[in-house]
Amino acid sequence: MEKYVLVTGGAGYIGSHTVVSLVENGYTPVILDDFRNANRVVIDGLTKILGKKPIIIELDVCDQNGVKEIFESYKFEGIIHFAAYKAVGESVDEPLKYYQNNLMGLINILSNMIEFNVKNLVFSSSCTVYGEPKGIKEVTEETPKNFPNSPYGFTKWIGEQIIEDTFKANPSLNLMNLRYFNPVGAHKSSLIGEFPIGKPNNLMPYITQTAIGKQEELIVFGNDYPTIDGTCIRDYIHVVDLAYAHVKAIVFLAGKFGSFETINIGTGKGSSVLEIISAFESETGQKLKWKYGKRRSGDVTEIFANATKAKNILEWEAKLSIKDAVIDAWNWEKKLIEHNEK
Ligand code: UDP
Repeated sequence: MEKYVLVTGGAGYIGSHTVVSLVENGYTPVILDDFRNANRVVIDGLTKILGKKPIIIELDVCDQNGVKEIFESYKFEGIIHFAAYKAVGESVDEPLKYYQNNLMGLINILSNMIEFNVKNLVFSSSCTVYGEPKGIKEVTEETPKNFPNSPYGFTKWIGEQIIEDTFKANPSLNLMNLRYFNPVGAHKSSLIGEFPIGKPNNLMPYITQTAIGKQEELIVFGNDYPTIDGTCIRDYIHVVDLAYAHVKAIVFLAGKFGSFETINIGTGKGSSVLEIISAFESETGQKLKWKYGKRRSGDVTEIFANATKAKNILEWEAKLSIKDAVIDAWNWEKKLIEHNEK
């Protein structure tokens, strides 16, 4: 019998890698994506990796009738809910777009889970809910949440709260918030990866686009932070490791009769911006054009995961390194030229 898992946003960056990981572990993903922020090249990539075309339903996750019909058609083992907007800067300019899409999509999924008695949900949350951690920079799930500094961050913050409250009212559900740190890299095959829309906001695609000549030069946002080399520190996690954490989450939830957990998904190690640049240059042999610029408003100085809970509860830990990530990100960037993305 097929074990169907609904993957909303399954054509996106983390979603597509999770689809691969699900298939590798015996599940049948059902991708729900309307491709508004995903590239259709992903379908070809997934088809090549998987040896057959995955199930894809083109639909807005906020479409109430449409999503209901999907729940009528499949009996889902679980749901992984990725579909959401994620650009921090855009969310400041268009907050209603973010609150509408990110919260209504989640509410639509939860309502259908209750109506159709689907028990297991994994929600894409983010370490942004910690804001700027006070004191210790290694955050556990018990570290108090702080208000994020963007509407995007608030949609994750409120999304977690919606999930917790839904669990309290429906204690037989199995719900999990995964708080991701900074996903980087791409599938080894270079058949799927991230398709940044417009100028990338995130460090790794900015590095690879600068190296290939799509961007003039990388600006390192600030060198006067109180860190080892003055640049900010983040926990960069390979997207293939991150994808597998979702499979482990689905396996965990399948054995539960009422469960609510929040789990950090990171490597447990922080890296500075300069360390990432240096890893990129040494692993790829590319000389990167970069210079220091002003601090970017809203940036957290330093944060990295305490990943003990993921290890204990999900039996998951990151296996791939920053070296793997920069090599895979670079190979993917080179491959993107073939997709006429230049
Ligand atoms: N960063 C940078 N230049 C860029 C993009 C990012 O120096 O063009 C820095 C940014 O200030 C932060 C780190 O890289 O310290 C990671 O930024 P990203 O936007 O990828 O992730 P987030 O800030 O959301 O953790």
